[in-house]
Amino acid sequence: MVFMLSKSNFLACVFGNPIAQSKSPIIHKMFAEQLDIPLIYNKQLAPVDGFESAASQFFQQANAIGANVTMPFKHYAFNWVGQLSSQAQRAGAVNTIIKTQDGFVGDNTDGVGLVNDLQNHGVMLKDAKVLLVGAGGAAQGALPALVDSGIENVVIYNRTVNKAQYLVDVTNDYNKGLARVFGHSHENVAFDLIINATSLSLSGALPDLPNALFKKCETVYDMVYLPHPTIFLEKAKSLGAKKAIDGLGMLVHQAAHSFYLWFGEQPNPRPVYDHLKSLNT
Ligand code: NDP
Repeated sequence: MVFMLSKSNFLACVFGNPIAQSKSPIIHKMFAEQLDIPLIYNKQLAPVDGFESAASQFFQQANAIGANVTMPFKHYAFNWVGQLSSQAQRAGAVNTIIKTQDGFVGDNTDGVGLVNDLQNHGVMLKDAKVLLVGAGGAAQGALPALVDSGIENVVIYNRTVNKAQYLVDVTNDYNKGLARVFGHSHENVAFDLIINATSLSLSGALPDLPNALFKKCETVYDMVYLPHPTIFLEKAKSLGAKKAIDGLGMLVHQAAHSFYLWFGEQPNPRPVYDHLKSLNT
């Protein structure tokens, strides 16, 4: 799948709108330095209705090797590429485009990024009972990798229950019956891991979950990352959750897997994570 150009000035970018906040250029610059790969990686602000032409224009450059895709373009990228990896197919979205000899391949590294970050933090996923909060793109992106990681089951809680049900149904062919919609019977379950895949922490708000769930929970994870612990992580800790992790590591690990897909070389996420933490932004 990996297509190597001559080793000069590879080009990659991240498409988004807005995109000014993206840390991806810092991450990929550090990865490229680690592996001595001459990569130029930039942010690309595309018009909300203009992903396809922005992507076509970018990839007309001979040395363009790949791109990341963030909100709101992951579904546009899914439809734009010629081939989909099984992760992208199952996630229903593309966050990584790889230029190959056979055309453009779309992949999704969000789930791998989440699972690698959890494992990196020593979280045992084998036979874990997982509560996934949220049923948007991030939750759907996470689900394939969670199912592949050997969990016992995953219960999905979402404000809009129909969307949680849709997520269970749309992933039915691969979730092996492990995914369920949250109901009353789950209110006293001792989940090993609760993952917040909503955007709520960005606005300082919390999902409407019973406190008891956090008392019994080993690890809580918030996909949102901020310069300080998110309200979700703080509340969970105060209620008894033992370990609390934010989504910065997921960001770095998903980028590391994108980098691997482009270049066939595995960068080391740790120093990049430490650097971003030290920036405290
Ligand atoms: P979507 O817009 O697709 O989904 C948003 C989710 O949040 C839905 O489940 C939605 O519920 C829920 N939600 C939003 N507002 C409220 C509210 N007021 N009350 C209850 N639930 C609410 O976004 P994504 O799934 O793409 O992203 C979710 C978050 O994950 C974002 O903040 C994003 O930054 C983060 N993320 C982090 C990554 C990382 O690498 N760390 C990677 C990808 C995403 P409903 O269906 O009811 O509207």
